[in-house]
Order: sequence, then C-alpha cells, then structure tokens
Amino acid sequence: MFNNLSEKLDKALHVLKGHGSITEVNVAETLKEVRRALLDADVNFKIAKDFTARVKEKALGQNVLTTLQPGQLMVKLVKDELTELMGGDAAGINLSGSPSIILMSGLQGSGKTTFSGKLANYLKTKKTKKPLLVACDVYRPAAIDQLHIVGEQIKVDVYSDKGNTDPVAIAQAGVAHAKENGHNVVIIDTAGRLAVDEVMMTEIANIHKAIEPQETLFVVDSMTGQDAVNTAKSFNDVLNFDGVILTKLDGDTRGGAAISIKSVVNKPIKFIGTGEKMEAIDVFYPTRMADRILG
Ligand code: GDP
Repeated sequence: MFNNLSEKLDKALHVLKGHGSITEVNVAETLKEVRRALLDADVNFKIAKDFTARVKEKALGQNVLTTLQPGQLMVKLVKDELTELMGGDAAGINLSGSPSIILMSGLQGSGKTTFSGKLANYLKTKKTKKPLLVACDVYRPAAIDQLHIVGEQIKVDVYSDKGNTDPVAIAQAGVAHAKENGHNVVIIDTAGRLAVDEVMMTEIANIHKAIEPQETLFVVDSMTGQDAVNTAKSFNDVLNFDGVILTKLDGDTRGGAAISIKSVVNKPIKFIGTGEKMEAIDVFYPTRMADRILG
C-alpha cells in the first residue's frame, strides 16, 4: 500500500536526517521533495502546496534548525500533517436508529456491493447486530444476484424485489421488512453508473430523502486517484454524505485519494477495503495510515 509514496517521502526526509547541521536551504529542498512525492502520488496540486506550506510554517515556529534532532522533528511534522490531512481522529459509524439505516452510494464498480457485505459481516460479528441487506439496483439483475450470493456467504438476510423498477419503493419496503423481522441495521446497496450523471444523482437523492438514513456512505475506488476526489465532490454536493469508504487499497494505489479526499469534502474516511474477501475491511485510522506511509 502506497509503496511508491513511502519510498519517495523516505528519500526526501533521509537527506535531511543525514545532515550534521541543517540549513534553511536543506529544509526548503526537503519540502520541495515532499511536495513532489505527494504530486507523484496523485495528490491535488493545491493540497500538496498547502501541505508543505503548513509544515514549513510549523518548522519555523518550532525553530527546527536549532533543535537537537532536526531531521526527526521534520519527520514528525510531516507525519502529523499527513494525519491531520487524512482526518485526525478515527470516525465511528452512527448506529443510533431503530433500525439504523445505512445508505451506500458511489459509482458502478467502486465496490459498493462488496463493501455492503463486508460491513454487514463486520457489524454482525464485531457489534453483534442483526443486519439486513437491501438490493436497490433495478438496472442490473446480476447486481441483485451478487448481493444474494454475498448474503449467503456471510449468513445475512437480503431483501430484493426483482421486477420492481422503483428503487425508492424497494428501499422503503426493505426498511419495513427489517422492522417486521427484527433487523436492527439496514444496509441499502444502490445502483451506480460508470460516471456521474444526473439520473443516478436524482435517484440516490430520492432514496436518501425517502428513507432518511442515519449514515450515508460514499464508496470510492482508491485506484482512481484524483477522479475519486472529483466524484466524491459531486456525490457530496447532492447527498451531504457522512463518510467515505476507500476500496481496493490492497492494489497498487498511489495514495492520492486517501490523502486528498478528506480535505476536499470535509468528511472522514471511515473504513477501507483491502481485498475481495468479506473479511478484507478495516476501520480507517489516520494515525496508523500516516505511520504506514512514513514507515
Ligand atoms: P459495485 O458495482 O460498486 O457494487 O462494485 P462491486 O462490489 O461489484 O465491486 C467491483 C469489483 O471490485 C469486484 O470485482 C470486487 O470483487 C472488487 N472489489 C471490491 N472491493 C475491493 C477491495 O477492497 N479490493 C479489491 N482488490 N477488490 C475489490
């Protein structure tokens, strides 16, 4: 995960760590390298620029040049800033409703169905909840079948209504089904498209309005880099979602989405997907991620 970024940041900071005495020029050069590493990881230009500007300001404020171990202090400043950028503290999930309704949103292929299953499995095993999965993709029968397969695998009930072409009605019926059958969490999987379009946005907005979820999650493929950030912005404008799910972090992702998304939509990353299996889900901890990036 983020191997390239880790390597480049390590290299950037390594130069500084090796110096007996450090000058303002060294610090400036290091920060330039840090910025370059962030840009290479597909972090948006402005975010990368602001990032290094803030680290520089802190370095000057703490008189980095006169401390005993300036290299280490710089590493700490970069790590703190990375943590802050990715969200500071870990954010939980709101399970207050009865039942708690969780709405999934995102493009087709982002990993919504897979993540719906992972989350149901996680809530069932870790939080002893009784979830219900609801299939609201009325365009692709295969998507409904996929959710049923996932449900069977993790032994979680799935509500669907093949042939019904009204996703709002299915979502509402799903919530009613949950109440009747003692499910205390409802996870609603919705239809995505290959790119943001008005029909999809209107549909998800209508579902959102009708069922008033406690938690609306935006699922995004971390491999898509800056596109992930742009898509997040479009969905957030319409849904004002509560959190982001970053999937496919097990792949050769450069890290840009993980680093940039929070500062663009000001919503926390709540979980990450790290594989195709149902167990490949992790709570997102910004501190741990920054530690991982900076080794
Ligand atoms: P949806 O169209 O948004 O419902 O996306 P799917 O859940 O069908 O996922 C699309 C593809 O991505 C499937 O082949 C999944 O197995 C795969 N996938 C989903 N999440 C992950 C993940 O965290 N890591 C990896 N490697 N693959 C994933």
